[in-house]
Amino acid sequence: MSKILIVEDEQSIRMALEDDLDLEGYVVDGEADGVQGLERARAGGYDLIILDIMLPGMDGFEICKQLRAAGDTTPILMLTAKSQEIDKVVGLELGADDYVTKPFSPRELLARVKALLRRGKPISPPLERASFGDVEVNFKGYTVTKGGQPVELTAREFSLLQLFVSRPDEVLRRDVILSEVWGDGWDVFPRTIDTHVAHLRKKREDDPAEPKHIPNVRGLGYKFASDGS
Ligand code: CA
Repeated sequence: MSKILIVEDEQSIRMALEDDLDLEGYVVDGEADGVQGLERARAGGYDLIILDIMLPGMDGFEICKQLRAAGDTTPILMLTAKSQEIDKVVGLELGADDYVTKPFSPRELLARVKALLRRGKPISPPLERASFGDVEVNFKGYTVTKGGQPVELTAREFSLLQLFVSRPDEVLRRDVILSEVWGDGWDVFPRTIDTHVAHLRKKREDDPAEPKHIPNVRGLGYKFASDGS
């Protein structure tokens, strides 16, 4: 049975979430304070952490950063209230796995929780290592280097990279990318995929404006060319 931690200071939202998730059979703990939330998350044992952003004590961004910095890979779902927060979640290297925007419906949230919990499993046959150009990927150790220098990837960027590398020279439509990397039941804009791919490119390509390895196939999706041609 999956264990979920909710860190949310708005009592009505936290209690509603606890009830909804409890009804679905999850074991749920709730915290209202950021510092206590981090402590609880650190104590471990959770399969998923739902994090509000504006919290007393410590905000959700900081909690997320600290957990990731300590090597904690528990899936994190951020609750965002404002568009500036969304930009930050998508754009920063926080290591959050996804977000929902307030107000959200219980159904939407549950779909995302389920997808995140399911995604604990690796994509297709697990590749251990891959290299292309001067990029070396170790899928087991979750490390990437470019020209011998380590490259930091978020969990989602790593999943994306894994998908691309495991299906070279194949046009991956955005809906395929969505279901493989984000899981089913997501309400993600194609733009979100584009943003993640752009981030991935920025980190791996010599010239992100002229991508060799992950070209856009106009209007369709993306293709990973293993030989860089
Ligand atoms: Ca709040």
